This record gives sequence, C-alpha cells and structure tokens, in this order.
Amino acid sequence: TKGAAMVTAVASRVQAQRKLIDTVLALFRLTQEQLVGVQDKMRAELEYGLKRDTHPLATVKMLPTYVCGMPDGTEKGKFLALDLGGTNFRVLLVKIRSGRRSVRMYNKIFAIPLEIMQGTGEELFDHIVQCIADFLDYMGLKGAQLPLGFTFSFPCRQASIDKGTLIGWTKGFKATDCEGEDVVDMLREAIKRRNEFDLDIVAVVNDTVGTMMTCGYEDPNCEIGLIAGTGSNLCYMEEMRNIEQVEGDEGKMCINTEWGGFGDNGCIDDIRTQYDKEVDEGSLNPGKQRYEKMTSGMYLGEIVRQILIDLTKQGLLFRGQISERLRTRGIFETKFLSQIESDRLALLQVRRILQQLGLDSTCEDSIVVKEVCGAVSQRAAQLCGAGLAAIVEKRREDQGLEHMRITVGVDGTLYKLHPHFSRLLQETVKELAPRCDVTFMLSEDGSGKGAALITAVAKRLQQAGKN
Ligand code: BGC
Ligand code: MG
Repeated sequence: TKGAAMVTAVASRVQAQRKLIDTVLALFRLTQEQLVGVQDKMRAELEYGLKRDTHPLATVKMLPTYVCGMPDGTEKGKFLALDLGGTNFRVLLVKIRSGRRSVRMYNKIFAIPLEIMQGTGEELFDHIVQCIADFLDYMGLKGAQLPLGFTFSFPCRQASIDKGTLIGWTKGFKATDCEGEDVVDMLREAIKRRNEFDLDIVAVVNDTVGTMMTCGYEDPNCEIGLIAGTGSNLCYMEEMRNIEQVEGDEGKMCINTEWGGFGDNGCIDDIRTQYDKEVDEGSLNPGKQRYEKMTSGMYLGEIVRQILIDLTKQGLLFRGQISERLRTRGIFETKFLSQIESDRLALLQVRRILQQLGLDSTCEDSIVVKEVCGAVSQRAAQLCGAGLAAIVEKRREDQGLEHMRITVGVDGTLYKLHPHFSRLLQETVKELAPRCDVTFMLSEDGSGKGAALITAVAKRLQQAGKN
C-alpha cells in the first residue's frame, strides 16, 4: 500500500503539472470573439492612418508609396536591384523582356555583419556600396550605368517614388544617424564617397510592394502584398479618394500599411501575455512593433524561449534547471520552430533538435516544447489572418461589392517554411471575411524582381514625361 500511495502521489503531481502547463498554453488560444476584436481594431487603426487629422498619431502608419499602377507588360531593360531588410542582403541584376512577360535574374547574397547592422549609417551604406561593387565586378559590369531599384524593408515616409525618409529601424537593424534621413540620399552619398561608379537610383520600394508587383505581373487581381518573414507587413491598393495625405481623388495608390506597429498604443494589450512583454523589453525597439513581435519569425522563437524559461522556473521542464543556452537570446530561429512542429518528425528527432540547440530534454520535455511552439505559431497565424481579414473586408465595402475576389502576393520565411502557418492564416481569413474569396499566390523572389519592375515602370513614365 505504501507503493500504491506513492504511485497516486506521482500521478497527482503529474496531473498538477499538466494543469500548470495548460494554463500557460491557454493564454495563446484566442477565441473567435477575440479574433474578431483584433480585426475590428485593425480596421479602426487603418482608417486613422488614412485620415489627415488622425494620421500623425496612428500606429498603423498607412504610408503612401507613389506606386499607382501595375506593370503592363511593355516594361523592358536591365536593372539593378538591392534587397535590404529580410533574411539576407542581396544585389540583383534583373533583365525584363517585354511582351512575353519574362524576367531573368542573377543575384548574389551578402552577409551583413551584426556590427554593421548596428554600427553607424555611413558604415552600413559604405558596406552596401562595397557589395554592389563586388557584384558588378563579378557580373563583368564594371562601369555600367544601370537604373537601380532599392528594396528597403523598413518604414519610410515617401514624397515621391525615389525619396524615402526612414521613420525608424525595425527587426535587427539599429545603425545610427539614419532615422529621419532619406535613404536614397544616403545611398547616393556612399556611391559618391567610393567614386568608382555611378548609378541612377530610380525607386525605393518596400518588400511588400515588390511582392505585390511581382505577383501582379502575372495576376492582375493581385492588389495586396503580404510578408510573413523576419518581419511582418502588408501593402494594398487603396482608392486615392481615401488617402487624405495625398492630393487627388482619381485612381488608386499602393499603401504600405506598416501594420507591424499595430497595438503600439496598447489597443491589443488585453491579449498580450507576460511573455510578449518580456520579448518586447529585451528587443532593440522596446514598445514598438508590438503586432510584429507577436506574428513574425524574428520574435516567435523568443516568445517560445520566454515560455520555456518560465516553465523551467516552475519546475515543469528540463528538471527545473535553466541552462546557459536557454538564457541565450535568439537560439530558436524560425527554421528550428518549423522543424520542431513538422508532423513527420518523431519525438526523438525533436529531442535531437533540442540537443543541437544545447538543450538536454527528456521525452516529456520534448512533447511540451512542441506544444509550446504550436501554440505560439498558431496565435501568430491567426493574428495575421485577422489583420488580413480587416483589409479585404475594407476593400470589399469600399467597392460596394456583395462578394469580392482578390489575390494576395505572399513572401517570407515564416509563410513559406513553417508547416502550419500558411494554412492557419488562410483558415482564419476565410472565417473572418466569409464574403471575400482570397487567393494566395507565392511570390518567387518578390522583393528583387518587384523592385526592378517598379523601376522599369518609373523609368518608362520618366521618359514619357521628358518627351
Ligand atoms: C518593416 C516593414 C517590412 C516588414 C517585412 C517590418 O519590420 O517595418 O517595412 O515590410 O518588416 O520585411
Ligand atoms: Mg525579403
């Protein structure tokens, strides 16, 4: 009977532990009602961003991009494109042939060392120009004077297609003396300092816009660009009459929503957890990009890590021992989350991944870790879906349609590599925007190709203007 008593004691301890774990996981399970709440608040913030009076204080910045139309297939020529702000920094040569709508690309990936991402602005732009020089050398294009499109994936206030003032760094960047400056000027000056070649910088483009353009080149119904990657953002075509910050009422213009800042006024604090707050406080930009920090690849692993630390402190994981590794910021990259959550993976393999990360786990631990990852990424996909539902519903209402079909061009490592994110996102949109028929189109290399297409259109318009 002593043995039996011990067995019951163990069983009830296991039960109590399970309860504690479930309590934490429950914080990440959003009800339909909560998701509708997020959708409604997003909708309200979008409207604030568009209106002149409320724009200065809006957390969803709704930035005009001066991109007003899709490529029409007559674009052609050779273009350089830069892609800064995603997982990699790339320089590309893009050849567009008219008529057949075919595009050829050559590109090279360059690393941006941490000390340059977080050094001075001059160093950052000198490094970029160094990479361009390497690429031109490599392609045998030294001395060529090509038009350049600059995909710069950070919030910029634009007054035309070739001007963009950086509002604030996001993600892992924090170079000094850039905020409030025109990034095109900074690039031009760095090219001048090097004094080796000349480039005609025609357009500065957000990655969402490049993605929309690339998909729009094939599907004219594509009027939204979505990035679910290192960062999170969306752009869409808005009626000019609704954009109070820009003169004119005719036609449409692409708006870069910068929805990552949604919630910076506290409007979604009711669903933020203590873990979200810890991730925010430990980030490079505390208090900012709160929605992005709940929905994008750069932060999901950090949320998971914060939960694991807490569960370990409560004695529910890793035998109650918080290892040095678990204290290390950034150990859970998106690719590990994707692997851990893959359905094809046996628990033993999950343990092996944790081992690789330097975390010694039991079989029970690995089950809990997998559940934690699942809860965090599911919430991310649903939140992102609620945001997207707000946009498509707005578009439908604005056009006075009973039903609307629309295509969303999508890019980003989270969307593309995670085993469940894209499905959960799509299911959420279907539920929250039942009158919209949304097609998701994966963009192949959207930011590079899109920047070149936008540059080509801008160049064509420039020349038309001169004649
Ligand atoms: C930036 C956006 C960008 C997104 C995806 C965010 O952090 O603010 O400009 O589109 O990341 O790269
Ligand atoms: Mg990108």
